[in-house]
Amino acid sequence: MFKRIPGTKDILPAEVTIWQEIEKISRGIFSLYNYQEIRPPLVEDAKLFNRSLGQTAEIVQKQMFLIQNKEELYALRPEATASVVRSYIENSLDKTNSFLKVYYIGPMFRLERPQKGRYRQFHHVGCEVLGSSDACLDVEVISLAAKLLDNFSVSGYKININSLGCAKDKEKLQKNLREALKNSADKLCVDCQNRLKTNVLRILDCKHESCKKIVDSLKLEHQHLCPECLDHFNSVLNGLDLLGIEYKINYSLVRGLDYYTRTVFEITHPELGSQDAIGAGGRYNNLVQELGGPDTGAIGFAFGLERVLLVSKLSQEKKNENDLVFLITLGDLAKIRGMGILADLRKYGIPADTDYENKSLKGCMRKANDLNARLVLILGENELKNNVITVKNMLSGEQKEVNLSQLTKEIKC
Ligand code: AMP
Repeated sequence: MFKRIPGTKDILPAEVTIWQEIEKISRGIFSLYNYQEIRPPLVEDAKLFNRSLGQTAEIVQKQMFLIQNKEELYALRPEATASVVRSYIENSLDKTNSFLKVYYIGPMFRLERPQKGRYRQFHHVGCEVLGSSDACLDVEVISLAAKLLDNFSVSGYKININSLGCAKDKEKLQKNLREALKNSADKLCVDCQNRLKTNVLRILDCKHESCKKIVDSLKLEHQHLCPECLDHFNSVLNGLDLLGIEYKINYSLVRGLDYYTRTVFEITHPELGSQDAIGAGGRYNNLVQELGGPDTGAIGFAFGLERVLLVSKLSQEKKNENDLVFLITLGDLAKIRGMGILADLRKYGIPADTDYENKSLKGCMRKANDLNARLVLILGENELKNNVITVKNMLSGEQKEVNLSQLTKEIKC
């Protein structure tokens, strides 16, 4: 018997309604903010991710699903920001519509060690806005993230926010950190000792107690920010205050990817345990240019849907919204005739089904009940002879005979 690859999941019919609901809510909210959907491919040139996320990023070093195809190295996308930027440049969207607001919903792939809330194939609902560095846009994007969570019936989440500053500020931050950590290098974990040379910002993310203690003792603030970046950050905070969006400034929040500049944010939920990030995002003002496009600001975020579902209070079952009509036929002639009746019902947009397992009348009634059918239609020999059909209302239990020619008109809800 074949089994799923570890870290992947079948979304079975019983669960799929909640996924559809989350997708429907997302589409509604995104269109309220004037975002359009984009659907980039799931597979890209691996170099796109190496270049944008950074060679030293954990995703690039350890988590890429790679496909060697003759000379080419492809990768299943670990995230969609790089794909959206590639698409923006490749399709010359910067020329036709330099300011672009897009959203996406779909699977991402990372070769991680599976655990609760951490999969190898998981789903993002996310957005990207390209073409502006305006602080008000950061405010809109963060408020949109909060709006989505509120509409997903997620409460108790926390928004952490920080600013990395521009490229120069980031360099300064890295230099300051190296200097400050110089004397405690031997107390850092082995990974962080390497990060000191390769990607010092990642030390701020480290989950090891000893590293966390050292980071706490650094008493980080915004010494690295230039006046423009500090101004930008303060404008973002003012905007959030104005909208009544609560946040916490977290000076050690850096995000693990090279492309982030200025605002970064992460949304956590206390009920998620060790994998407590429900979503994250930030500005990436240099990425468009780095991938060959114009020098233009950009910002985005993504939620992990599996984690959203772990804390969402949206009901798992879509409430009694089943319009299904279930047809029960008795005898071969009725069965064939029934095919025409089903076709007619569907033609008029009435969801309809019948029994294909040769169940008894009782068995069929049970099945109609399990399917939560609105109506049951019974077509037996007598009904056929008189050109009528029995219609039973499953909610009231009422039953009546209806002329076959009047059926669709009679039962259309
Ligand atoms: P990231 O691109 O790493 O910032 O991810 C954004 C969000 O996606 C995270 O906050 C998580 O909610 C979710 N996420 C990231 N990696 C995984 C994973 N391996 N399994 C499930 N969800 C994930």
